[in-house]
Amino acid sequence: MGRRQRAKFTLDQLKSTIDTPETELDHGNPYELLVAVILSAQCTDARVNKVTPDLFEAFPTVHDLAEADPEEIHPYIASVTFPNNKAKYLAKMGRQVVENFGGEIPQSVSKLQTLTGVGRKTAQVVANVAYDVDALPVDTHVFRVSNRIGLVKEGADTPAKVERQLKRVIPKEDWGVAHHLLILHGRYTCTARSPECGACPVIEVCKYNKRLQRLPDPIDGLDKNKGTYYCKTRDHYFDDPAVHVDRNNVEQVACPRCGSMNVFKTQTGETTKTAKDYRVDG
Ligand code: SF4
Repeated sequence: MGRRQRAKFTLDQLKSTIDTPETELDHGNPYELLVAVILSAQCTDARVNKVTPDLFEAFPTVHDLAEADPEEIHPYIASVTFPNNKAKYLAKMGRQVVENFGGEIPQSVSKLQTLTGVGRKTAQVVANVAYDVDALPVDTHVFRVSNRIGLVKEGADTPAKVERQLKRVIPKEDWGVAHHLLILHGRYTCTARSPECGACPVIEVCKYNKRLQRLPDPIDGLDKNKGTYYCKTRDHYFDDPAVHVDRNNVEQVACPRCGSMNVFKTQTGETTKTAKDYRVDG
């Protein structure tokens, strides 16, 4: 199956299982959306939604924000990540919107990107959600899920590469919905630490799951008193493993005696091998 077919199958499946593919950031207008997206950097949407009602009541328009000092904004956003920087960003962004754009949140990605605290991803989210501009922002979920399923080529190791490759295999009219579907799939099913493959509607095309299936089965009856690890190749127990890099460029536990990566944990009998993953923090 080619990437274009895999992308079509994935979007069709996710559309049929995710009822409302839209942002989970509460907002009532482009100004509120822009503020919420800036606050959501390296923070959960749920946390942002807890602080924005009071924040928007205190600063109901961009003009109110433009007149505020960071110290006045800070108490309202103290519980989100990086509140000091974000308070400064919001105060400066407010002034820039008033001074440079007449108090209107700009609609184009390039103009949005001139604002403090607004990178390419934030600008694309605002342009797409608030103004229906065709955009496919790549956040940590879109990046991980696209790589795992195989919607992008091996080695698509930056958000910019993932965005370019996704845009080649997803029709332009689907970019916005694809962004939300992939985010929600990554947030609730294909999570970073423990993807729920058994409940996943795209398991049959997922490359990462195929790699997981190829990992060796656990071994019963290993003796944990003889060592933390067991090398099946040399039938040998040991405590201090070596680390080798496999052909997929993944670091694997290896036997310090023979270098084999056919190693199992004696506590559980499970392989120490891991499939190439695309988890990124933040
Ligand atoms: S099969 Fe598993 S790894 Fe693949 S997309 Fe689904 S949840 Fe993620």
